[in-house]
Amino acid sequence: MKRNLHRALVLPLILLMLTALQQCSYSQSSPPEKKKNNMDSTKKNNPAYSRTDSTKVNLTDEEWKKILPSEVYHIARQKGTERPWSSKFEHSKEIGTYYCAVCGNPLFKSDTKFESGCGWPSFYEPVTKGSIIYQPDNTHGMSRTEVLCGRCKSHLGHVFDDGPPPTGLRYCINGVVLDFEKAKEAEKKYKEGQEEE
Ligand SMILES: [Zn+2]
Repeated sequence: MKRNLHRALVLPLILLMLTALQQCSYSQSSPPEKKKNNMDSTKKNNPAYSRTDSTKVNLTDEEWKKILPSEVYHIARQKGTERPWSSKFEHSKEIGTYYCAVCGNPLFKSDTKFESGCGWPSFYEPVTKGSIIYQPDNTHGMSRTEVLCGRCKSHLGHVFDDGPPPTGLRYCINGVVLDFEKAKEAEKKYKEGQEEE
């Protein structure tokens, strides 16, 4: 009689423990929290990033490597090139400003963006003359003009003279090093216009 009672108590206890263990392993194998927006965390960890400060940024390669996400570092600081037709900005028609993703310097306005068909976001004119620095580039057996950010000297892309009027220039820019912000005013007006209709 006593033995039976013991068994009756132990069995549910074992079952309970097994369930608990199972639940525990379930919670462990659940997928990790989704990574937050890469750009936001970049800006937070990047003391050089500012949309208002125009003083030149001078960091060592080692410092950039620590601050920047690897794909931004590769293009901006090692003069890499993103795969053609890979940028979300290539066909974007949104109204706003394109900033340097490394330092926040305003580079191009959306109204100077055009479809060049070359596979990279293309513009015909920078925001100001000082937005960009030009440098001859004779690598890869070509004679090209490299464009760099006027504030942090990050590699952005190249400029060619087969662009549309009024400048005749085509700034061929890696989307990875661009940071876009929609024009708030333009967006507001557009919405107001829609409501009136
Ligand atoms: Zn920059």
